[in-house]
Amino acid sequence: MGSGPGPLPNGRRFRPNHPLAPLTTLGLGGPAEWFIEAGSEEELLGALSAVRKGGLPATLLGGGSNVLVSDHGIRGAVIRVKGGGARQVDRRTVRAFAGMTVNGLVRWCIQRGLAALESWAGTPGTVGGAIHGNAHFGGREVGEVVTGLRVVDDAGKVETVRAEAAGFGPGGAALAGQGRVLLSADFGVQPEDPAVLRRRARASLAFRKRTQPLAQPSAGCAFRNPDPGEASLPPDVPCAAGALLDRAGMKGARVGGARVSEVHANFLTAGPGATAADVHRLLGRCQAAVAAAFGVRLVPELVLLGDFPS
Ligand SMILES: Cc1cc2nc3c(=O)[nH]c(=O)nc-3n(C[C@H](O)[C@H](O)[C@H](O)COP(=O)(O)OP(=O)(O)OC[C@H]3O[C@@H](n4cnc5c(N)ncnc54)[C@H](O)[C@@H]3O)c2cc1C
Repeated sequence: MGSGPGPLPNGRRFRPNHPLAPLTTLGLGGPAEWFIEAGSEEELLGALSAVRKGGLPATLLGGGSNVLVSDHGIRGAVIRVKGGGARQVDRRTVRAFAGMTVNGLVRWCIQRGLAALESWAGTPGTVGGAIHGNAHFGGREVGEVVTGLRVVDDAGKVETVRAEAAGFGPGGAALAGQGRVLLSADFGVQPEDPAVLRRRARASLAFRKRTQPLAQPSAGCAFRNPDPGEASLPPDVPCAAGALLDRAGMKGARVGGARVSEVHANFLTAGPGATAADVHRLLGRCQAAVAAAFGVRLVPELVLLGDFPS
């Protein structure tokens, strides 16, 4: 390990060999070679600039609720974007820092009688992670309510991008895949009675409680739903990853301490003694079972960070 990235303009330093497992909802994986938290746009830009100058790769982490960190950890620098808030830019627009939690933003909007995000109540993680993966719930994608993004590219150039140019799709925001780091997002909002918004948020929370294994560590949906145009399935089989895994007999399947949830087959849970390698092998078994049963190749929604066998 070298000397790592230099300090931020405010004097804060990257920490070496920092454990990441407690910063993920699966609770698995090894340490970051170098680690820092960024709680504002200034800190995030400072951290990215220090990593660039140090010639190291940068990995972004939000709430760690959609990632599988390798047991060997992550080489280079991990920047955890955490905290910050929201503000109303105009009557129809709310701007949130990437590190704000989705739940914090939902509450903030409801308190002010602003409709847009209440259906995402209960989605773990941050605004940055939600934009990266285009967080979905009840058939809706978060990209539908985004009007613009502020991003920084790998050369440090900051730009404002309209939502249409961000390439939101079922696999996430294409822009995020091009090495852009999200600084903040603008959401289109409409005035609404807070009581109505609270009811919608509670309905989403209740649906989650009924359908997701919230008592066990997981990272949400392991696989994206296949594109109905690409999968030719029997008419009685829904084109949803969970349904395909269920019908392929994967509910309850285990590798080591990792298990396919009995509650929702698209959730892989980590039991006692589980390792990231167990979860990774179980992902492979799930793909093989669905390919054999339906000829469909499931694509992981879960983001793999660090080295895994190919
Ligand atoms: C119990 C449970 C329920 C869930 N339910 C849902 C659900 O209903 N719908 C849904 O879509 N997901 C769901 N998820 C998955 C997860 O909550 C979402 O994908 C969430 O949006 C991820 O946000 P995060 O901050 O935790 O991202 P992380 O897991 O920390 O990161 C995910 C990816 O985003 C990247 N990233 C993070 N911040 C930034 C940034 N600022 N700029 C660029 N890239 C960034 C990371 O590098 C990584 O590639 C669930 C997860 C759990 C554990």
